[in-house]
Amino acid sequence: MANDDQFKKVISHAKEYGYVFQSSEIYDGLSAVYDYAQNGAELKKNIRDYWWKAMVQMNEHIVGIDAAIFMHPTTWKASGHVDAFNDPLIDNKDSKKRYRADVLIEDYCAKIEGKIDKEVAKAEKRFGDAFNKEEFVSTNPRVLGYLEKINEILSRMGKSLEAEDLADVKALIEELEIADPLTGSRNWTDVKQFNLMFGTKLGASAEHAMDLYLRPETAQGIFVNFLNVQKTGRMKIPFGIAQTGKAFRNEIVARQFIFRMREFEQMEMQFFIKPGTQKEWFDYWKETRMKWHNSLGLGEENYRFHDHDKLAHYADAATDIEFKFPFGFKELEGIHSRTDFDLKQHEEFSGKKLQYFDHEDNASYTPYVLETSIGLDRMFLAVFSNALVEEALDNNTTRTVLKLPAVLAPVKAAILPLVKKDGLPDIAKQILEDLKWDFNVDYDEKDAVGRRYRRQDANGTPFCITVDHDTLEDNTVTIRHRDTMEQKRVKITDLKDIIKAEVDVKHWLQKMK
Ligand code: ATP
Repeated sequence: MANDDQFKKVISHAKEYGYVFQSSEIYDGLSAVYDYAQNGAELKKNIRDYWWKAMVQMNEHIVGIDAAIFMHPTTWKASGHVDAFNDPLIDNKDSKKRYRADVLIEDYCAKIEGKIDKEVAKAEKRFGDAFNKEEFVSTNPRVLGYLEKINEILSRMGKSLEAEDLADVKALIEELEIADPLTGSRNWTDVKQFNLMFGTKLGASAEHAMDLYLRPETAQGIFVNFLNVQKTGRMKIPFGIAQTGKAFRNEIVARQFIFRMREFEQMEMQFFIKPGTQKEWFDYWKETRMKWHNSLGLGEENYRFHDHDKLAHYADAATDIEFKFPFGFKELEGIHSRTDFDLKQHEEFSGKKLQYFDHEDNASYTPYVLETSIGLDRMFLAVFSNALVEEALDNNTTRTVLKLPAVLAPVKAAILPLVKKDGLPDIAKQILEDLKWDFNVDYDEKDAVGRRYRRQDANGTPFCITVDHDTLEDNTVTIRHRDTMEQKRVKITDLKDIIKAEVDVKHWLQKMK
């Protein structure tokens, strides 16, 4: 399936099966804002729990908080967001469409990357089993030329953005002859900076209202609470503070479904460390976060690191974990070595000391910070788009199946009476009553059982449990596995253990070891 088609399928499947709806759809929706539906809310919660368990529960040195979305406005002066949380925007004068200048340039580079992929595919065909991709990519003159070009473009863009030389960003777009992707026009305006924070007001009367921002990241709620948590939790460095919650950004272009939204959710962890140890912790968290991703089995080949050339104002090292979405490799998570920038800034703006007294060294210092920051909605899209497959079956039919990792699936098992009579629904409902203490389970008695299986496959339910006439005799049921479609006869009393073995968080998270 072409990638565009696959992406369209993902979006329509998400709606049809109650995962994601457009916000305020009856009013024709609100741009780049989405609602999670009955199944989506469960999947999102399960991803959040999976992250929280790995980050907080399994780490005795990391604790979780839940800070408010509203923060004192000086927070955002101190963090640099008022002055520097900008994206470079450019308008096309003919189409009147607005773009992020850096994204236009990055997309241009992605096209060159596509050419490299084609060269690799051609060579693979030519050399067969003897093909060594690494050697080919590091020696083939054409590929090397493409790589050099990408490097040249990205490093020039990085330097221009860092120096706020927006005229050069425009010059680069013109030199590369980048055209409006929708219309092909090259009639561009100058590049301008655009602040991404949403403003609002606190207070009843207009004169006394205070200007506030909706937080553009959850991290600052952690920094301003650093000392409170450290003291009340008697935390010793190195230690981390984690939180999940909503963040808001007035994105210039918000396409690609839930990949880039104006209201989204982050799962962030700030790890406070001794200055000078940041390199070692950067490597540690890169490896640990990649292990977390791989524990879900979405395919190691679908992830890659992308080290930053252009560093944010607060960072001394940064990398993205990129995922292969239906529209290509894009950022899923950021890992940033934030130095002592944030704590120092908050010290300066608040006038309060935010230092740590190290008993071993008998000295105080401002800790350095290592951050891991992942978008929950992007993780949702990664999991969901990776899971949706169209499978050809032996009898020349196809089935649509959502192969969600069982630990994340919204519904763990569906209980199906074979027919709606002979007491079978009563037994099925009793099984439902017993299992719902431990798992989110569903009951379905409508349509032929084959159609019900298909419905549950498309819904991502890992198990179907069928109650039939033999059940009346021997208290056994059929349990069918979503991915293999294999069916087994098991005792009703064994169901709980069978399901637990596959959906238990422990079973999955242990793969991180
Ligand atoms: P991008 O370059 O894609 O705009 P970013 O580098 O600005 O992302 P960060 O500020 O590092 O993103 O935020 C951390 C994580 O939050 C990102 O890796 C991403 O998963 C998520 N995220 C950021 N912006 C959005 C958004 N508009 N919608 C959904 N998720 C987002």
